[in-house]
Amino acid sequence: MPVRSQFVEVIVNKAVEAVDRIFHYQVPDRLKENVKIGSVVAMPFGREKSEGIVVGFVDEPEVKSIKEIQAVLSPAPLFHKDLIDLACWMGDYYMCPKVSALQCMLPAGLKMANEKVSAKAVDCAYLCDAGSNLPLMKVGPKQKEIVNYLQVHHGSPVSQVLSETGAPRSSLKSLLSKGLIRVSREEIYRDPYGVKNFITSVPEVLTKEQEAAVQAMEEEYVSGKKPVLLFGVTGSGKTEVYLRLIEKMIYLGKQSIVLVPEIALTPQLVAVFKSRLGEKVAVLHSGLSLGERRDAWMHIALGQIRVVVGARSAVFAPCPNLGLIIMDEEHEQSYKQDNIPRFHTREVAKERCRMQGALFVMGSATPSVETYYQAVQGAYRLVTMEKRIANRPLPFVHIVDMRQELRQGNRSIFSRLLQDKMVQRFARKEQILLFLNRRGYHTFVSCRDCGFVLQCPHCNISLTSHGGNSRLKCHYCGYSIAVPNICPQCGSGAIRHFGTGTERVEEEVKRLLPQARIARADADTTSRKGAYDEIYFGVKKGEIDVLVGTQMIAKGLDFPQVTLVGIISADLSLHLPEMRAGERAFQLITQVAGRAGRGELPGEVVLQTYSPEDPTLISASKQDYGGYYRNEIMKRETSGYPPFGTMIRVLFSGEGLTVLAKNVEIVARYIGTELTANEEILGPAPAPLEKIKDRYRMQMVIKTNDLARTRSGLARGLEQARRDGFPHKNILIAIDVEPLN
Ligand code: ADP
Ligand code: ZN
Ligand code: ZN
Repeated sequence: MPVRSQFVEVIVNKAVEAVDRIFHYQVPDRLKENVKIGSVVAMPFGREKSEGIVVGFVDEPEVKSIKEIQAVLSPAPLFHKDLIDLACWMGDYYMCPKVSALQCMLPAGLKMANEKVSAKAVDCAYLCDAGSNLPLMKVGPKQKEIVNYLQVHHGSPVSQVLSETGAPRSSLKSLLSKGLIRVSREEIYRDPYGVKNFITSVPEVLTKEQEAAVQAMEEEYVSGKKPVLLFGVTGSGKTEVYLRLIEKMIYLGKQSIVLVPEIALTPQLVAVFKSRLGEKVAVLHSGLSLGERRDAWMHIALGQIRVVVGARSAVFAPCPNLGLIIMDEEHEQSYKQDNIPRFHTREVAKERCRMQGALFVMGSATPSVETYYQAVQGAYRLVTMEKRIANRPLPFVHIVDMRQELRQGNRSIFSRLLQDKMVQRFARKEQILLFLNRRGYHTFVSCRDCGFVLQCPHCNISLTSHGGNSRLKCHYCGYSIAVPNICPQCGSGAIRHFGTGTERVEEEVKRLLPQARIARADADTTSRKGAYDEIYFGVKKGEIDVLVGTQMIAKGLDFPQVTLVGIISADLSLHLPEMRAGERAFQLITQVAGRAGRGELPGEVVLQTYSPEDPTLISASKQDYGGYYRNEIMKRETSGYPPFGTMIRVLFSGEGLTVLAKNVEIVARYIGTELTANEEILGPAPAPLEKIKDRYRMQMVIKTNDLARTRSGLARGLEQARRDGFPHKNILIAIDVEPLN
């Protein structure tokens, strides 16, 4: 056995650039047994005491007067080497302190160091071989139910078996005495989801396309390990492909991570995974208590959990035996984190799979332009599923020109076509989904006489009316006031409300279909824990006739009874002032439309717009990804936007506008001198949201085709500026590598 060196490399728990490097410490003999890679330790740092994370061992320390580690704070290492390497990669790639990356990997930051895991042991029941010869034996109906249950839920806790089957303990005992089942005491993971009765059916045969997809991915896992893009139309059965792949990984003794855009919005996927994989799955979400998260983390690290389902941060689940990462709805914006470290889950997942030799699968019906481009270029393996399950047709999309509706005297927010179809569907007891990407009642309030628009005094953004027309709210900071009777600027009484939000849509539906049971899903109605699930299961069980909602209802939901989808205004997303507006609009419309006609009955979509000739809308209405992509990729190429070039955004924020502007100008000059002619600098200029929560914001955007070169130029420029005292202390700089908007 090689003697372990007594010097260690430590990353200090201070998220500042100046100390974002590795420091060497000596391990005193009394701690030698406990200091491991991934341990959290206490040590002197400068004149103070600090915490740090051990990331490696060294033979020779770089300094003469080396200091000693004082204590080990974590009973077991918190990180394994793969995660430490990943954090270092993130630090370089996203220009953030390594310790920020390490911190964000832990469910509760380094506070976790002092926590102990509580294990819980329970009795679990298994079928013995004799159990499969059941028809030959004489057993009562209750006992039979237990056996049936165990055939599907092998190894379930006894208490669960009894409560799920309703059988008495005596039935279980008699099965035990007949030798048909056995019971053993096992340590289990406390599943915060409990054992809700999730029932889903297992398809007996895969479609040809599903079969081919699974096979292609297994092949890639064995031989290539290129990332895979599973490009499957809405309703093509992607979830089942994921499940088969995961089952294969379980069989191989490997762990899988399944990433979803937002866990609260994916009750269906959670239900399917829980019902099919049971105890082997941990679902990570924000509603878990600290103890529950730490439990999950530890059980994952021990390899007892085979499948982790979660949003963004689940990409850091400490799986030692990682075989697979699946990223569902790969194109979703929420995969990008918008505070430090500003990482994109896709890039981190890809890097992690590369490091750990795992397979990376991205799934979408509307892949991001970047991802599809990589697949076309051959950097990713492209696996396509073009048909819906059972060859169900994609819904027919009617484009309705709302200008014409106005001309013909229809002032309602619903076109006549949509009204007719809603009445008809309701009469046939089929379900309706109405989509509008704005919450609130009206979307802004302004004065007819002077044109003044009521804005939030803390943010540069107009206020939205809520609760009928009673209150105005800021969607950024929550500021709220009663609607004024007179214009604050000119004193006129001609205050008017404009624009439509989901609240108003709901009200209009009540007017049109007074008998209908209506639900609304947006940030206002779903803030309470479990509220979204209630709405979701309500629709699923047929207790709701019309569901009105924001983009929340656009994501992967599978409601077989929905035959009509109304898109109230397609224009909202189309005209956002950002590079990806077209891509977002296409994705949103295709995804919402994809909610119709997923069951036996065919579906239809009514898409209302003021710009019916827009090419993006037309491709979306035909669900023609190829047509859309060809158009978009040409635009990207001419403008040098991703995937043909990339960007780094430097965002500055401060309380006073003049001081901010002056500092930004100076810092920008420092940065400019370190960049080359190949980098195009836009700005500095006011950021798209000029003021949020009383802080002014300015930005510069650097367009580049060589991230590595630009990063180091930028870092040098900033360092020089800092050395000379810029920017002033109360001005914050945020760097966003590959920003999404
Ligand atoms: P996607 O994610 O591609 O939009 P889903 O995974 O939600 O599609 O599947 C759509 C529906 O088809 C679901 O109700 C699912 O249970 C069902 N399904 C999937 N595969 C099969 C199959 N092989 N046979 C029958 N039904 C299937
Ligand atoms: Zn006015
Ligand atoms: Zn505000």
